[in-house]
Amino acid sequence: MVPSTEYTTDPMQDRQDMNVRRTIRIIIFVLSVSVVLAGFVPDVRAQTAELNTYQRHLGNGAALLKKGDHRGARDAFEEALRYHDADAAAHLGLGIASFHLRDERTAERELLRAVELNPRERTAHRVLGDLAYRRDDLEAAAASWERALEIDPADSELKARLERIRREHRTEKDFNRDVTSHFTIKYEGRERIEAGRIVLRILEDAYGEVGRALSYYPDREIGVILYSDRQFQEVTDAPGWSAGLFDGKIRIPIGGIDRETPGLRRILVHEYTHAVVRAISPRVPTWLNEGLAQYFEGREIGPHQREMLRMAARAGRLPSLRDLEGSFLGLSGGQASAAYLISLSAVRHINDQYGLYRARMLLDECAAGADTARAVSGALLVSYEEFERGWQRSLE
Ligand SMILES: [Zn+2]
Repeated sequence: MVPSTEYTTDPMQDRQDMNVRRTIRIIIFVLSVSVVLAGFVPDVRAQTAELNTYQRHLGNGAALLKKGDHRGARDAFEEALRYHDADAAAHLGLGIASFHLRDERTAERELLRAVELNPRERTAHRVLGDLAYRRDDLEAAAASWERALEIDPADSELKARLERIRREHRTEKDFNRDVTSHFTIKYEGRERIEAGRIVLRILEDAYGEVGRALSYYPDREIGVILYSDRQFQEVTDAPGWSAGLFDGKIRIPIGGIDRETPGLRRILVHEYTHAVVRAISPRVPTWLNEGLAQYFEGREIGPHQREMLRMAARAGRLPSLRDLEGSFLGLSGGQASAAYLISLSAVRHINDQYGLYRARMLLDECAAGADTARAVSGALLVSYEEFERGWQRSLE
């Protein structure tokens, strides 16, 4: 139920941009000196022009990456490499963009090339770790992240992730593994074989239901890990009330279940929806993500909640959706339940007023790099403000 913690990779940092510029200045300086010595002035001009063009495409790619336009960034970095391919920065950029576009082969090739050109390129090591983690190779992921931490020991976020992956690795060493065409599931102990089957059956249903509604079927397996309640706490650090979590993998605490319950189904469909949303677009407003997850789990808005929404709408006291675009994790219990309720209400309004396929279009717009306002006007053909006004009116 915890909103997915966004698992993003920093676009190239300013420090790296500066490094690139410095590298290029040094290259240009060395070239000018050697050319002055050799007397080849026209040649150096040509090379300097090529490097300038390289730098322009590189800067363009970095800006697009920062905006989340991964396709645009990929094109820009590829273009940059046509002018100069012996600098780590463009390979790193292309690797990161490909990572986000889920083109793992290109991502790995480019990141390894970046590391070859600059063994201390810590972001490349970090994303190589992310790639390994994505294919569930925890040992390789830990090795790459360790390398990144050797280079920059101050990266506390990465340190926490490494610590977590070690706990995860310890916990899962003896887990059984089942694979269906759409899911890889891991759990401990033969007594959980039946629990694993139940979970897979529900997830396969979710695959069909959510897939039909959003016309989207993830094209690679989704990892699912079943824990005991204690393991779940240790591995995830999730709040005590959390019933499940999606952070790139679906993680569910599961006691000794031996049959399907409505609660289990709700949790699994909810977390599976997050997996689908993430597969369509790595960056979406949280109200849309949590609204869709609750919509598919079948959560209803009760008469009491409806009345609360109506009173708030009439008094003009409804929070704006703009304030619900970031993570809900920092919210207090009361604020969080209000945020979830509003998210569900807004997504129900999209369904009633526009049709759920428009929610898919919203996700596609986000995937193409649009901010929420542009995504709403592209997918719903009204402005963000008009959409919010219409939604609020529908509650009064
Ligand atoms: Zn959720």
